[in-house]
Amino acid sequence: MKKQKVDVIIVGTGAAGLFCALQFPEEINILIITKETVEDSDSFLAQGGICVLKDEDDYEAYFEDTMKAGHYENNKESVELMIRRSQEIIGDLISYGVDFEQENGQLLYTREGAHSTSRILYHEDLTGKEITGKLFQRVKERKNIEIREYTTMIDLICKNNTCYGIIAKESNDHVEAILADYVIFACGGVGGLFEHSTNFPHLTGDALAISLKNHIALKDIHYIQIHPTTLYSKKEGRRFLISESVRGEGAKLYDKHMNRFVNELLPRDVLTEEIRKQMKKDETEFVWLSMVDLGEQVITKRFPNIFKKCMEEGYDPRKECIPVTPAQHYFMGGVKVDIDSKTTMEHLYAIGETSCNGVHGANRLASNSLLESLVFAKIAAGKIKEEWETLYLDEEVDLTQYEDLNELEEEYKKMVLKEMERMRKHG
Ligand SMILES: Cc1cc2nc3c(=O)[nH]c(=O)nc-3n(C[C@H](O)[C@H](O)[C@H](O)COP(=O)(O)OP(=O)(O)OC[C@H]3O[C@@H](n4cnc5c(N)ncnc54)[C@H](O)[C@@H]3O)c2cc1C
Repeated sequence: MKKQKVDVIIVGTGAAGLFCALQFPEEINILIITKETVEDSDSFLAQGGICVLKDEDDYEAYFEDTMKAGHYENNKESVELMIRRSQEIIGDLISYGVDFEQENGQLLYTREGAHSTSRILYHEDLTGKEITGKLFQRVKERKNIEIREYTTMIDLICKNNTCYGIIAKESNDHVEAILADYVIFACGGVGGLFEHSTNFPHLTGDALAISLKNHIALKDIHYIQIHPTTLYSKKEGRRFLISESVRGEGAKLYDKHMNRFVNELLPRDVLTEEIRKQMKKDETEFVWLSMVDLGEQVITKRFPNIFKKCMEEGYDPRKECIPVTPAQHYFMGGVKVDIDSKTTMEHLYAIGETSCNGVHGANRLASNSLLESLVFAKIAAGKIKEEWETLYLDEEVDLTQYEDLNELEEEYKKMVLKEMERMRKHG
């Protein structure tokens, strides 16, 4: 049996995992694994942008917008920490080479639904690709970080509520035990469990299933965000997002008689409900979104990726409405963590969308997720460095239970969906 030992394993190569890896000094050797290629993470898909506290005058309003969107169920300490550390994180990103839109040397800000002002930094409509791509470049320059693609965590190695490493499946289905002093879940969301989602289908909440199996606490896993506007299509596969910033810039929603029926900048959950009501009333599977008034310049220069996708699907948003419909988009719940991103198991941390520190409450404010992923990834790395303790496992790891991997995968999906339903009913 192959058995490797590293200092830190990070499970996931999205913005949270890559940024976290960069926070460790070069003496610490890190293994980052991902189920698919590095580019196949939701972080690469983020369109709208990343929030930042523009100036002290905006603090109260930013805090209130986040709390209001989250139905005041947010953990206030997490919200405060996220907002207070946002400028430092943006500074880090710029130092890594991330290019945010600027005019005359000043950063430009855009706005999305439920924000009372423009406070979102962006790069065209490809902010996630710009941020995560630059983080990936910086990670590749580090000699202490190894990235292994097509490698899936299928379980943890744990004893007496302490995590000693992971069980991983390689692309050839070979199963191995990898020991580590610390494991960090950065496994993203749960879109792969839903029929219609904007997420990559391989994001199936594996960290949640593995937590359930190993008695690690979860929190609010029934809090699932549905995005109100994804491009309607009868094709199979991931739904294409029409970013909220399109509505932030002035795009309007219409019913089947071409009447406006709603305030387009309502919080996501409220707007989704209004669109669903309208679709039911109209007996349609979509409503119309018009970008026409934004003008050719804004459509093609500010939203080049959305423009290209609409044209590929046969709609010219410069001249006509596009059909949009709600789809699963984001996961507010997750593996329960404290303010330092520590789970209820020793030596196990969780960051990014897969974790829940309560920052989003019952509903996430647009463009808070990339920021939250980065802020708490940095905090997790800081805490691990501060508390460093080397582990030794004094027994063999039994791999015989991982013979039927397909059955295990199905079992994991069922476990998570069942727990979501249980939490939905009983809280
Ligand atoms: C279309 C779209 C647009 C968005 N737009 C914005 C936006 O404008 N602003 C914003 O703030 N947020 C946005 N979001 C949300 C944001 O992109 C995500 O919440 C955030 O990027 C999550 O980062 P992450 O690192 O936690 O997870 P991800 O980037 O999803 O990465 C998860 C990683 O975990 C790996 N993984 C999962 N399970 C396993 C396993 N068992 N073994 C090994 N690897 C595993 C995956 O392969 C992947 O590498 C958007 C999301 C989508 C889908």
